[in-house]
Amino acid sequence: MRAEIYNKKKKKKVVMKMVLAELEQKLQHCDSCPLGTTRKHMVFGKGSLSATIMFIGEGPGADEDAQGIPFVGRAGQLLDKIVAAAELPWDDIYVCNVVKCRPPGNRLPLPNEVEACKPFLREQVRVIHPKIIVCLGALATQVLVSPNARITRDRGQWVTKGSFRIMPTFHPAALLRDESKKRPVWEDMQQVRDEYRRIKGLLPKQTWPPPEEE
Ligand code: SF4
Repeated sequence: MRAEIYNKKKKKKVVMKMVLAELEQKLQHCDSCPLGTTRKHMVFGKGSLSATIMFIGEGPGADEDAQGIPFVGRAGQLLDKIVAAAELPWDDIYVCNVVKCRPPGNRLPLPNEVEACKPFLREQVRVIHPKIIVCLGALATQVLVSPNARITRDRGQWVTKGSFRIMPTFHPAALLRDESKKRPVWEDMQQVRDEYRRIKGLLPKQTWPPPEEE
C-alpha cells in the first residue's frame, strides 16, 4: 500500500514537471505581449514543484532578465534573508512573478501585459498547488486577491480562496527603498511561518476550552 502511494506521488511529480517544462519551453518564444520584444530572457520560476509555499512577485528586474532566473538581484537576496529569518525551508518553496518578462526600466507591468501573462501564472499555481501563497507587493495582491486590493491596507491579513491561504505583504524591493517596511514584513512572515508549521503539523493543535489550571 505504501509503495503504491509512493509510486502515485512519484508519477504525479513527473507529470507536473513535464507540464511546467513544456510551458516554460513554450514561453521562451512568447510574444503575447510587448514585453516579449524587449526581454533578454523569459524568467519562468524556480523551486520545488510540490512546494507548500509559493512567493509571487511582480516582474523580473535587470539581473533576472540577464540570467533568466527569478529573484537573483538585491531584492532576491533580501528575500533569501527573510526566508532564512522566518526559518522556512527553501526545498518547500517556489518563486515566480506575475509577468515573466522584464518591463523596460523596471516599470510596473501594464494591464495588457498582466492580462496576457495571467494564464501562465494560473497554470503554475494550478500545477504546483501550494497551500500558502505570499503575494509580494501590490500587483501580485491585485491579481491574486482582488483588483481593488491596496497593499498598505491589506498586507498582513490572510485571505482564503478555495484551498489557498494567501498572505499579501510588501515586495522586498520596497524594503530596499523604505526601511520602515521591514517590521511589518517581519510580522507578516511570522504569520506565514506559523501557518506553515500548522499545516505541517509542527504546532500543537489549539484546544478549547483550555485545560484548567491546577
Ligand atoms: S510577459 Fe508573459 S505574455 Fe508577455 S511575452 Fe512574456 S511570457 Fe509572454
